[in-house]
Amino acid sequence: MPGSAESKGSFRCPRCGECTWGDLNFCQACGQDLYVECPGCAATWRFMYEYVYCPSCGAKTGQKVEKGGFQ
Ligand SMILES: [Zn+2]
Ligand SMILES: [Zn+2]
Repeated sequence: MPGSAESKGSFRCPRCGECTWGDLNFCQACGQDLYVECPGCAATWRFMYEYVYCPSCGAKTGQKVEKGGFQ
């Protein structure tokens, strides 16, 4: 099985590519918000899932949401 270097729940920061993990709300290396928020219904999920479409309402998310870009 691959991925031995990354612990369970780890994923890459969308901005800097640093390996992060499930307890973090923001990247420890660059401060990137590690949650994606749907611009349609405001549902949030961990960036690790990298949904192209919102799992709650089906809106296209484009995967990347700028930090603080949507309240
Ligand atoms: Zn980062
Ligand atoms: Zn949505």
